[in-house]
Amino acid sequence: MTHQERIYLAQKALLGVSIGDAFGDKFFGDYDFILEKIEKKEIPNAENENLENIFWEFTDDTAMSIAIFEELKEKADIDQINLTKKFIKNHNLDPNRGYGATLRRTLREMQETETTEWENIAKNSFEGQGSMGNGACMRVCPIGAFFFDDLEKVKILAKKSSETTHYNIEASTGAIAIAITTALATKIGKEDEDNKDLSQTFVKNYADFVDIILSYLPDCDTKSKIAKTKNVMPNYHIETIKTMLGNGTQMTAQDTVPFVIWCAGHYLCDFESALWKAISILGDRDTICAMVGGITIMSSKKEKIPQNWINSVEKFEKSIFCEK
Ligand SMILES: [Mg+2]
Repeated sequence: MTHQERIYLAQKALLGVSIGDAFGDKFFGDYDFILEKIEKKEIPNAENENLENIFWEFTDDTAMSIAIFEELKEKADIDQINLTKKFIKNHNLDPNRGYGATLRRTLREMQETETTEWENIAKNSFEGQGSMGNGACMRVCPIGAFFFDDLEKVKILAKKSSETTHYNIEASTGAIAIAITTALATKIGKEDEDNKDLSQTFVKNYADFVDIILSYLPDCDTKSKIAKTKNVMPNYHIETIKTMLGNGTQMTAQDTVPFVIWCAGHYLCDFESALWKAISILGDRDTICAMVGGITIMSSKKEKIPQNWINSVEKFEKSIFCEK
């Protein structure tokens, strides 16, 4: 595998993240209106416009994923100080991308100390617990795609990338889980272009798939909730799934990542259906859809990725955040 081939895979993950992120962000608004749109599979404020004029802007999930992508592109590794600098740079280029208040404060404090104090700042947030927010998970898909053939490396780099801003075991476990899931999806996508469902791949079924992910995770709440996804059947009502797994409303890793893995795992080879299922749970919409998009794009065939979605979303590679 050449460096260039790895870059290509990470870029593909980034495309999935950006589409999911921008798609999910379209579904904030009046509750009844949004439910009706999801029921009809219509994207709010997009259906009556000329296709060329539709523009879906992505949010912080993609801006931070780009920082990780750039770091991998430069070094095929994660240097925590450099990555922190990239997060700060992307935040400063456009702070109005929906960053959480705590993350903004953390990045500002790190900037004031010229990032030398990043570790103390990350460790000391939330009264010394470190953040268990889902912000570390939403940005790691490029790591899983880049090193899909080395899951130990994926685990190490996902943890390192998490620690820069989210120094808590729940956050780093969530990040490892999402990165490993992306790596498995990439492996499935590459294994056999003709695969139509999980049963034709090396994992065979959803429980096997989750067991591989669990084997890379330390014991914690996030891990036990991911294990619980094996008991959630695909035909359960979305409200039941929400009660069992959470939907990111609490913005924590343990309230967000289990549903993402469940949704991506059950719609692994169908990017479009995965995102419609993901949005139906509402909650932290852009972040959930960013992760589901970043994972499932790797294992879905081209025809499962709507061309008008690709056309509509802000082009990450031409955005202010990407090094030219
Ligand atoms: Mg966001």
